[in-house]
Amino acid sequence: MIGSRMSATLALVAGFAILGGCRGQQSTDPPPSQTPMALMSSSPFPERAPDGSVVDLITLRNTRGMEATILTYGGTIVTLQAPDRAGTMDDIVLGFNDVKSYEAATNPYFGSIIGRYGNRIAKGQFTLDGTTYKLATNNDQNHLHGGNRGWNRVVWKHEMNQDANGVWVDLTYTSKDGEEGYPGTVNARVRYTLTGDNRLVVDYHATTDKATVINLTQHSYFNLAGSRAETILDHELQINADRYTPVGATLIPTGELASVANTPFDFRTPTKIGARINENHPQLRFGKGYDHNYVLTRTGGGLMEAARVYEPVTGRTLTISTTEPGIQLYTGNFLDGTLTGKGGRVYPHRSGFCLETQHYPDSPNRPNFPSTVLKPGAEYKTQTVFAFGAR
Ligand code: BGC
Repeated sequence: MIGSRMSATLALVAGFAILGGCRGQQSTDPPPSQTPMALMSSSPFPERAPDGSVVDLITLRNTRGMEATILTYGGTIVTLQAPDRAGTMDDIVLGFNDVKSYEAATNPYFGSIIGRYGNRIAKGQFTLDGTTYKLATNNDQNHLHGGNRGWNRVVWKHEMNQDANGVWVDLTYTSKDGEEGYPGTVNARVRYTLTGDNRLVVDYHATTDKATVINLTQHSYFNLAGSRAETILDHELQINADRYTPVGATLIPTGELASVANTPFDFRTPTKIGARINENHPQLRFGKGYDHNYVLTRTGGGLMEAARVYEPVTGRTLTISTTEPGIQLYTGNFLDGTLTGKGGRVYPHRSGFCLETQHYPDSPNRPNFPSTVLKPGAEYKTQTVFAFGAR
């Protein structure tokens, strides 16, 4: 269904058109006569959101043929076509091709924007300026990824354009005071920019009219080996973090910032994800694999390189940079072969990994963690860059 229809709104940006011909096997640097045009397009999706509102499918494509399709439902990245070392394009994210599956309780947050709070808040409550707020508890006794109807289950408004950085779509959403228990009306904007050099830049922006907490992230599950690959265990991962935040049995941080040295959590040099994942370490037992926040080793603020991933068979690489203090490594431990996604593909255990840039889990209850409080008059502004390559 996705990608098979004509565009209602189409903006051609550069180069020569090979419309409809960009999905197949293509070189990263095609000769000029075949250079595909960069474009952004949007068209109503055949299926509506459960509340009846229209959902749109957005396509961003650059002149190298890299392409992202994004649903306004959840701001969800549905497909991401990226070249391997031979220039062959393939879809490197997990997902569904219908809104109903994204809406379902079984959706493990494939590809979506997560808000207001990415990750867990213990017992679904926190106290801010003397008032205790009770949030939806949707993960045992805890709050996860914004609650029952987090921002991955709302329809975002969209506006597309291009600038010197590339083609982009702005997604906006107004979250009302009290939504899922959070204080303050929050106006949020997330911009996805696809650059000419195969970077997907995600800019998050939000303001509030009342003090609140916020921690936005992007929940794509990657498998750089492509759409027919099984697990992600052979991917080599490097994370720029000396410490991580160990958790208890319900995956809430203990508050400690523990050294990764001499543990299976040490990814300071490139290591296969699967090399130590089944070791008998209590933290790996809690997460059924990696499901942990890393404390990025920062020397200051601003954008820093957080993680690198390399897939040896296809040569695809992913480098993630962020302004955030943390990154959650989640290795698809709860995927169990019961979900059928795009193209009828069944997703086995550990067939995708997430690297969710973020503030640490449960920060609203942890004064020693970097603050997630947003006050009226202040601006929430973070950036994460996913740079794709091959070698
Ligand atoms: C969390 C996992 C959770 C998954 C949901 C991840 O961000 O860390 O614990 O199961 O999202 O799909």
